[in-house]
Amino acid sequence: MTLCLKTNLEPIRNELDDVIRLFYGDVSFVTEGGDVTLTHIHAENGGQYSETLSCGEVSCEKTTDIPPGELERKRVIKRAAKTALFLLLKQLTGAVPPWGSLTGIRPTRLMYEAMDEGLSVDEAQARIRDEFFVSPEKAGLLKTIVNAQKGLIFPPADSFDLYIHIPFCATRCAYCSFATGEVGDGRLVVPYVDALLRELKAGAALMRQLGLKMRAGYVGGGTPTAIPAFQLERILAAATELFGHGEEFTVEAGRPDTITPEKLEMLKRLDVTRISVNPQTFSDDTLRRIGRAHSCEDTLRAYSLAREYGFDDINMDLIAALPGEDLDAFSRTLEKVISLRPESVTVHTLAVKRASKLYEERLLSGQTRTRSDADGTDRMLSLALSSLTGSGYVPYYLYRQKHMAGNLENTGYCLPGRQCLYNIGNMEETQKVLAFGAGSISKWIFPREKRIERSANLRNVEEYISRTDEMSLKKRKIILGEDSHEKA
Ligand code: SF4
Repeated sequence: MTLCLKTNLEPIRNELDDVIRLFYGDVSFVTEGGDVTLTHIHAENGGQYSETLSCGEVSCEKTTDIPPGELERKRVIKRAAKTALFLLLKQLTGAVPPWGSLTGIRPTRLMYEAMDEGLSVDEAQARIRDEFFVSPEKAGLLKTIVNAQKGLIFPPADSFDLYIHIPFCATRCAYCSFATGEVGDGRLVVPYVDALLRELKAGAALMRQLGLKMRAGYVGGGTPTAIPAFQLERILAAATELFGHGEEFTVEAGRPDTITPEKLEMLKRLDVTRISVNPQTFSDDTLRRIGRAHSCEDTLRAYSLAREYGFDDINMDLIAALPGEDLDAFSRTLEKVISLRPESVTVHTLAVKRASKLYEERLLSGQTRTRSDADGTDRMLSLALSSLTGSGYVPYYLYRQKHMAGNLENTGYCLPGRQCLYNIGNMEETQKVLAFGAGSISKWIFPREKRIERSANLRNVEEYISRTDEMSLKKRKIILGEDSHEKA
């Protein structure tokens, strides 16, 4: 299907395209003569903006007062145009996307914005429903999350969280788009760890200079346990020596086929408090289809081994809408996970990003995702919400990414009191994150100026190894406020 959008306000085209995808899935945009042609006219009249969206005879208009300030004006125009487009497409297609007109924004942020204006949680929830047409179920989910984050959302001002990226994995899954390569012959692992240790030392010196303490540590990837135990031990030993243990320390063990007694013993000895063992699905057929190169049996074995080694805070990741899986298949996975009783469960929605094999496969076969695919995925997420909350789990963080089926969400659930501090601070952007390794992004919050600066490391492993000091210097300048990289 092709769609043509004509707008007299080019800078907001991408945002309008995102709203269109909510209704039409992977539609192809053309500049002339599509199957559907939409027109957007932005106008200014008597102190008001008007956004008119039309398709043939059908049109929707949204007017707003012109606020003071350039930034606020841009925000108001964008929101009004997206709302008018959303209402028009709802009328034309009869579809009701569960997140309403919200695209590309963390929905919890809108809750917190409303609460900053003095609204209660209930009033904030009502505003999200009324102004952005978010479904009662999703708005209720936001309220539960905000309640689960109470007391954990704002970390001490003199703290930061640590992130270390290990860009290696055992093999590559079809949907993987991370800055990750297979360990292969391991040629790059040792020089990578050497470079990482240098970067960690430089970061620790900076934190000492600023008098900041690590609150939470997180080692992600890739799959950190895909590299040899001794190399991972070098990283963890250096991190704890330089930054201490903090209140929690997570290592994504992720792929069950990389978990061995030797690695678990080492993680425990180095005081890692939380690990993840990720089934993604409890169907061997699906695992084969997505190229994960391990079986459900491997997952069960790794999970019980982790319990034997004393891990009492384990996360399990699942993915909704994996290729070939329907609601029944997803339901079987959910039941199995709940019966294992991990301390947390993260339910992802499949995101088919351009860097993945799956994207290429879908492109070659001409497969596109439709609105009804999105509805099916949303049923899986609703089932996850009811099954997990019915089994004592609480949703405690949520985020959305581009390229997700139906522009839906990823939600972190946990047993009460098992919220991962790193996940909350990072997702809500309320905590400074000092990040190390190829492709990692440090996020530094300057509360007085209400701004966040980001410092991104190079993604390519070889370039990262040869230019580590340059990245340490860049990070230092940004954190000390000597450079301005990207304003939030
Ligand atoms: S386990 Fe994770 S990091 Fe490794 S290939 Fe699969 S998706 Fe990518």
